[in-house]
Amino acid sequence: MTVKIGIPRALLFHNFIPYWKTFFEGIGAEVVISGLTNKAILQDGLRLSVDEACLPVKVAFGHVEHLKNKADYIFIPRLVSVFPREYICPKFLGFPDMVRQNVQGLPGVIDNNINMYRRESDLYRQFFEIGSLICGNPFKIALAIKKAGDAIKRFTARVESGLRPDRAIDSSYSEDGPAGRKDTTVAVIGHPYNIYDSFINIGLLKRLEDAGINVLTTDNVPEKEVNDHVAHLNKKLFWTLGRRMVGAAYHFLESPGISGIIHVASFACGPDSMTGELIERKARRIGSKPYLNLTLDEHTGEAGIVTRVEAFLDMVGTKEQAARC
Ligand code: SF4
Repeated sequence: MTVKIGIPRALLFHNFIPYWKTFFEGIGAEVVISGLTNKAILQDGLRLSVDEACLPVKVAFGHVEHLKNKADYIFIPRLVSVFPREYICPKFLGFPDMVRQNVQGLPGVIDNNINMYRRESDLYRQFFEIGSLICGNPFKIALAIKKAGDAIKRFTARVESGLRPDRAIDSSYSEDGPAGRKDTTVAVIGHPYNIYDSFINIGLLKRLEDAGINVLTTDNVPEKEVNDHVAHLNKKLFWTLGRRMVGAAYHFLESPGISGIIHVASFACGPDSMTGELIERKARRIGSKPYLNLTLDEHTGEAGIVTRVEAFLDMVGTKEQAARC
């Protein structure tokens, strides 16, 4: 019988699902992904997680709860580091333990470490271990790792060409040019689980696109571009997501084709308070682009988001009009 692997549509799902899905399918498993976040998932997440957790972690609990009866294993790797010499937020490290503690009736949990702090090549060994839990054929596991690596490279190239990761995941999805469809382009900076989960951000990206705005995000900025921009900081940023957000924001602030920046942060997120400050300071120093900071938690209301986004878009429109005169 085919083994079913449940993957929550949460946390770093949008960054790594092409790798994870290709890998598990390559070793003969079936991948089951939880649905889009909705009210029931949020309610379960709030019930199961600790109050102090940020909203994306609470939502991730809800996704695990909704998957637990649909799979033989739940895949919630202990994400320590996804980039050499950098770390991921400690909440990712503790997530598998918190889930085991708080979610009842779990199937098997695959929570092996993913730790690329010392070397990127450690990933191979870590996925080989994971594969060995399900598949007894080492050649099949090695081939699945190779195919997963190829899949993530293809996905990254599509995202860096301007596609949103939530669209690039579907390998058949295509659209005309990254920023050529509409006159105005706005950059949205934030953690992937905040930007691409339209329930968490109350439809932010759709609101912008419906208003005729082209949207680029943190993930559309290539790694080299990000690193060139953060290289000038006094101290190295050792949180991977924070480094990417700051580098991408600096890139967009200096790009003439970008009309404004929206920074999406989580309430009670330590890393966001630091990266947000770095981005806002630079935005103020440059002073030429409208800047909006949206902080999200489970109490964020639609009316507040709509009003602030509308005011931001008014500023973008006014600036563009002034530039044309
Ligand atoms: S970086 Fe912030 S938003 Fe992300 S998991 Fe950590 S505390 Fe939560």
